[in-house]
Amino acid sequence: MAKYKHIVIPKNGKPITIQKKKLKIPNNPIIPVIEGDGIGRDIMKATRRVVDAAVEKTYKKRRAIAWMDVYAGERANELYKEWLPKETIDAIKKYIVALKGPLTTPIGGGFRSLNVSLRQILNLYACVRPVSYFKGVGSPVTHPEKMNMIIFRENTEDVYAGIEWKKGSKDVKKVINWLNKNMKTNIRLDSGIGVKPISVTGTKRLVRKAIQHAIDNKLPSVTLMHKGNIMKYTEGAFRDWGYKVATTEFRNKIVTEDEVWDKYNGKVPKGKIVIKDRIADSIFQQVLTRPDEYSVLATPNLNGDYISDACAAQVGGLGMAPGANIGDYIGLFEATHGTAPKYADKDVINPSSVILSACMMLDYMGWNKAADMIRNAIQKTLNKKTVTYDLHRQMKGAKKVGTSQYATHIIKNM
Ligand code: NAP
Repeated sequence: MAKYKHIVIPKNGKPITIQKKKLKIPNNPIIPVIEGDGIGRDIMKATRRVVDAAVEKTYKKRRAIAWMDVYAGERANELYKEWLPKETIDAIKKYIVALKGPLTTPIGGGFRSLNVSLRQILNLYACVRPVSYFKGVGSPVTHPEKMNMIIFRENTEDVYAGIEWKKGSKDVKKVINWLNKNMKTNIRLDSGIGVKPISVTGTKRLVRKAIQHAIDNKLPSVTLMHKGNIMKYTEGAFRDWGYKVATTEFRNKIVTEDEVWDKYNGKVPKGKIVIKDRIADSIFQQVLTRPDEYSVLATPNLNGDYISDACAAQVGGLGMAPGANIGDYIGLFEATHGTAPKYADKDVINPSSVILSACMMLDYMGWNKAADMIRNAIQKTLNKKTVTYDLHRQMKGAKKVGTSQYATHIIKNM
């Protein structure tokens, strides 16, 4: 077994392995967990308790997760004097399925986002964010129950590739002068520059995953979200390559929206998934006005970041928004939100986001019964109007509880 400096391998666990292109899950899988900065500490404690209780109640003593702490962010800096130690990356690569709390990223300077680095180093090319409504949660829209979407956001390229040069730097002057001279551009010398690469490879593997998800879960449509009318060779190309994957690799499972009108008189043939595309600004108003017309969204990196928070706002906010970063096999499960530093260690924040991310993790491992038990228990807890501060301010007559108490209620309601 690998030797680590600070990571302690649990004696009672076994690694998940890949056999015949599938994950093989032992009854006591070792799951690396990054606690995270800020509210991560409160949330992860609550999440582990809830997951352990659900696994125990579902599978009696037959199955249990062997959690293995691995480090990134502030805790890693304390232990290793590094923000993202190599052994953390190695452990996630080896153990394949991991859970993660939020990590701090400074704006406009300092180190690069650890979250973005993790996704790129581990090649976790799909950021998957389901957004659906739990009955009773307050919402700014009239029919939040109509929102039932899953967003597949490309996770490794676009403006997140980290290729940028600061205004006034030697490098930015080189770039601007080269572009102005050789490409006949007219860029102001006092500009900062960022590069937006979008590739066939990155687009196709993401859209392929989104369509496969729609097929596996019998969902009605996949929508490609892009701003291709303006950024033709990046976002426009994302749209074109997305359709190409659909019509070449999934031809007998899908119809395009154009085909529905041209060949089928506006009626979707039974059993087919509709592939459509929408311009980014239009989809922002569509998810408010006609959310039930959308099911799976496939998006470039930046669009996906924006639209997932906007959708989450309709179903109770970031406290209810789970997510996952998935590659060919590795899955790193984490909430959409950040470290919310003002609430750190106050035991007040809503842990549902990470608990629901852990449910996605259990589904990914094939432990769906335990995941369903948790989701049902969250619904029961909400029915009883026992909620954290964020939902309390949107719900009449609710009882406000802290993070740890809320987790206890979920466990009681299993
Ligand atoms: P944030 O941490 O997501 O928090 C913004 C606001 O969202 C909070 O003040 C709170 O709103 C609400 N919120 C977030 N999580 C919640 C939860 N679990 N329950 C209830 N409400 C919740 O965003 P930020 O303050 O802009 O970012 C803080 C740091 O996190 C930054 O360093 C950022 O880079 C980092 N970040 C990390 C990740 C990641 O690790 N994947 C993702 C995003 C941001 P109210 O104050 O209205 O209650």
